[in-house]
Amino acid sequence: MTKLFIARPAPPEVHAALEGYDVTYRTASTPLSVQEMQTALRDYDGVLPTLGDQFSADIFTSVDTPRCKILANFGVGYNHIDVDAARRAGVQVSNTPGAVTDATADIAMTLMLMTARRAGEGERLVRSGNWAGWEPSQLLGMHLTGKTVGIVGMGRIGQAVARRCHFGFEMNVKYYSRSAKTLSFTAEHVDDLRVLAASVDVLVVAVPGGDDTHHLINAEILAAMQPHGLLVNIARGNIVDEAALIEALQNNTIGGAGLDVYEFEPNVPEALRALDNAVLLPHLGTSSREVRVDMWMMAVENLKAGVEGAEPPNLV
Ligand code: NAP
Repeated sequence: MTKLFIARPAPPEVHAALEGYDVTYRTASTPLSVQEMQTALRDYDGVLPTLGDQFSADIFTSVDTPRCKILANFGVGYNHIDVDAARRAGVQVSNTPGAVTDATADIAMTLMLMTARRAGEGERLVRSGNWAGWEPSQLLGMHLTGKTVGIVGMGRIGQAVARRCHFGFEMNVKYYSRSAKTLSFTAEHVDDLRVLAASVDVLVVAVPGGDDTHHLINAEILAAMQPHGLLVNIARGNIVDEAALIEALQNNTIGGAGLDVYEFEPNVPEALRALDNAVLLPHLGTSSREVRVDMWMMAVENLKAGVEGAEPPNLV
């Protein structure tokens, strides 16, 4: 019988969709240990892992002739899996694009608004019990409507953010990406990231994580930003040099940052947590029930295809 390993607790829809398979549902919500990853590759035909499960090259080489044919990743980002090493070991990798796009773009907007309008500070003020009431100069932030946004990585999520900015907030859209895009609204392609950073009010990071984009947003890019400029990162933590970002926020060389992801997630440095000009969310990009069920079902379709010898719809 085909054996499947599901690396996190799954909703009833998944159990129903996998009836007829020999499925091991892991009950822990923590990342897989090295031993669990090795067992998954060795003893199962298909595995459904997610963010935090570090399938490095070493894991693949440590298992002689894996039984596993597919790692059907739950999530669009798959930089925790060494895809080349997986291929060499005969293991396909798939992800769940599309399902996550709008939800993640919404979190980008949440972060833009919260950072621009100092909503985190305001919330903390009310909860502290020290709010003395409305006054004209309290917590003055930046008005977002009509400002300029710079999107770094004009893919699915980048475009969804750009659409929201353009149609919802009448913002000018500029972007830096590997390739220029044909879009249904005006957006300027800027081929120098430093130039983009210098010319926008909000810079939104939406490129995939990985070696190519590691510290793409570094001290030089942060220094190019305007003093009121806001950085929003909904992609992956290590795209931004977090130490350089903390320094820029501490010295107020940029206006603020809205982060959903962190360089050494889930560790968030005390220095960052202490900053009022940072809005910090716990990787909420896709965290709505409908979206998560859609992601599960996409991952399950990929998993089934992979173990049955068909082409998984979302092979990476
Ligand atoms: P996508 O459609 O593949 O878009 C990525 C974009 O980045 C593409 O336009 C690509 O250019 C561009 N790009 C890639 N490498 C680049 C580089 N080195 N320099 C400049 N541009 C580059 O991916 P997506 O679905 O929008 O997702 C983006 C990332 O968001 C995911 O990889 C994931 O890590 C992250 N994410 C986070 C959350 C969350 O919960 N916070 C949720 C979902 C996704 P081309 O179009 O030319 O290829």
